[in-house]
Amino acid sequence: MHSLAFIDGLTQVANRRQFDRVLGAIWRRYTRDNLPLSLLMIDLDFFKQYNDFYGHQKGDACLQAIANTLKQALPRSQDLVARYGGEELVCLLPNTDLQEAQVIAQRLSDAVAQLGIAHEKSTVSSRVTVSIGIATLIPTLTMYKQALLQAADKALYAAKQSGRNRFCSA
Ligand code: GH3
Ligand code: MG
Ligand code: MG
Repeated sequence: MHSLAFIDGLTQVANRRQFDRVLGAIWRRYTRDNLPLSLLMIDLDFFKQYNDFYGHQKGDACLQAIANTLKQALPRSQDLVARYGGEELVCLLPNTDLQEAQVIAQRLSDAVAQLGIAHEKSTVSSRVTVSIGIATLIPTLTMYKQALLQAADKALYAAKQSGRNRFCSA
């Protein structure tokens, strides 16, 4: 994690490449160890409107603040926060079952709310909020790690569809 090749330049959290590496390594280990693995896929709500109204530079600063807040709110050393792309962040939570992942998702939402970044153009809140898709599974030899990503993405879609500023689980 100390190499620049593994860190996202804007947010200073792990980049997509590092996330893929870590997920691959954990996946292999967990198919043997029979432990639950959770993934949170986190997307900023109405972020296009945020950029349009406040400008791209403020948008960058907002993304940085959110990424940093997520990292601060996940003190366990094995948890990984990464920028998955654009305004999407992921949290990989080893040895975490669904119930624990839901508690963590709530904690992250609360931490973002605490930040209190104004968002005049959001229709769900006066502040910047996030939607979170949660997926938990125990990896097996016949499963692909993409299954975890797909499940989290589907749950994120459900969180968006049901009103944003919330988490859903697959
Ligand atoms: P939703 O609530 O459904 O997620 O809507 P949204 O507007 O957040 O999503 P949409 O996919 O329409 O727009 C994402 C926006 O995120 C558009 C893009 O300009 C912005 N974005 C992506 N990466 C960056 C970045 O690095 N910096 C800034 N400032 N904006 C970014
Ligand atoms: Mg998005
Ligand atoms: Mg968004």
